[in-house]
Amino acid sequence: MPFHVMLIPTLGCPSKCNYCWSSDAGSPIMDLDTVKKTVLWLRKFRKDDVTFTFHGGEPLLAGAGFYKKALPMIAKGLSDRNVAFAMQTNLWLMTPEMAKVLAKYSIPIGSSLDGPKEINDMQRGKGYYERTLKGARIARENGLDVKFICTFTSRSIGYKEAIFDYFLENGGTLKLHPALPSLKSDDPGEWALDPKEYGELLVYLLDRYLENWGRVEVMNIDHLCKGVFMRRGVVCTFVDCVGDTFAVGPDGNIYPCYRFVGMPDFVMGNVSDGPAMDDLMRSKAGKLMEGYRKSVDKNCRSCAHIRYCRGGCPYNAIVPTSGKIKGVDPHCVAYKRIFDEIIARQGQEMFGSVHIETAMAGFDPVSVGGPGVMQIMIKRI
Ligand code: SF4
Ligand code: SF4
Repeated sequence: MPFHVMLIPTLGCPSKCNYCWSSDAGSPIMDLDTVKKTVLWLRKFRKDDVTFTFHGGEPLLAGAGFYKKALPMIAKGLSDRNVAFAMQTNLWLMTPEMAKVLAKYSIPIGSSLDGPKEINDMQRGKGYYERTLKGARIARENGLDVKFICTFTSRSIGYKEAIFDYFLENGGTLKLHPALPSLKSDDPGEWALDPKEYGELLVYLLDRYLENWGRVEVMNIDHLCKGVFMRRGVVCTFVDCVGDTFAVGPDGNIYPCYRFVGMPDFVMGNVSDGPAMDDLMRSKAGKLMEGYRKSVDKNCRSCAHIRYCRGGCPYNAIVPTSGKIKGVDPHCVAYKRIFDEIIARQGQEMFGSVHIETAMAGFDPVSVGGPGVMQIMIKRI
């Protein structure tokens, strides 16, 4: 697992998506002193190459002036290692000036679109679709690469055909995210995607992906197949993320991942104190994450998929139970469903007119950003 630091300049966001669980209207905006302290902390903390992802809330709320100074501060301050950047944004606040600043550092942009306008705006709010597409246009015109994550909810799952067709016709790349229970809502499960439905959705996407071979890329399916074939996970959900991923909130507090930012129980330390790994792992949150790792070793011991699943996401498992470890990621049933399906088809004429290419020579197992694994490992027959 490469070293990954998520920077959360604010938890504020101008959008009001119905199922959002991570925005906070009163959240402050990170100042440059916190960025400087983050760099000083990381200089001693770990010497490995590092990827920074700006996440939120909405990271563009920090403004072009913030990125003009923060990006060179990080790149120069950590010039003894390779530094890469990424950003997850709804793009509403994208301007040519902002895009040029980000393009200077070749920052790949992940944004969110849940399918055609009617479906997207039904769950993300009226006007979201147009504003995000406008931002995407500005970003692309100024040299940025934009890909979309599509969140499937308890409601949009009923439109999965229309959503897949939309990405097939418009984008060619689909990355999906299952809506999680919103712990800030009176009805946390209202929008959450049921784990069983999530499993069936993954199998549906596998089939549609193969029917439309060469016309679309479904990143989740690539990652799942790559994990099974390589026998180890290639995205954070399916590796042991503890100790390799951290998030820094607007006030410099350090958390195990962006999903925990703003939750006082999950603060591991603060960049201004320059904590060492042992200090972070001694915190209540650190012990909890370590406890999750042990519980995966115990609970998933007899599961055939443990090597490339590793119990899924600790956030999904820990937070809905108020910080108690009561089991593994509730999406376990979905993971089992799709892993079983991939294995059942492996080595057969598994994918209709497409057949597994077992030769792996020259395949870079570490890269998850290049061409899809299916494009590398499967050939038409
Ligand atoms: S807590 Fe979940 S989302 Fe965060 S890094 Fe770990 S697996 Fe990924
Ligand atoms: S599929 Fe379920 S039981 Fe198996 S490793 Fe993943 S979370 Fe554990």
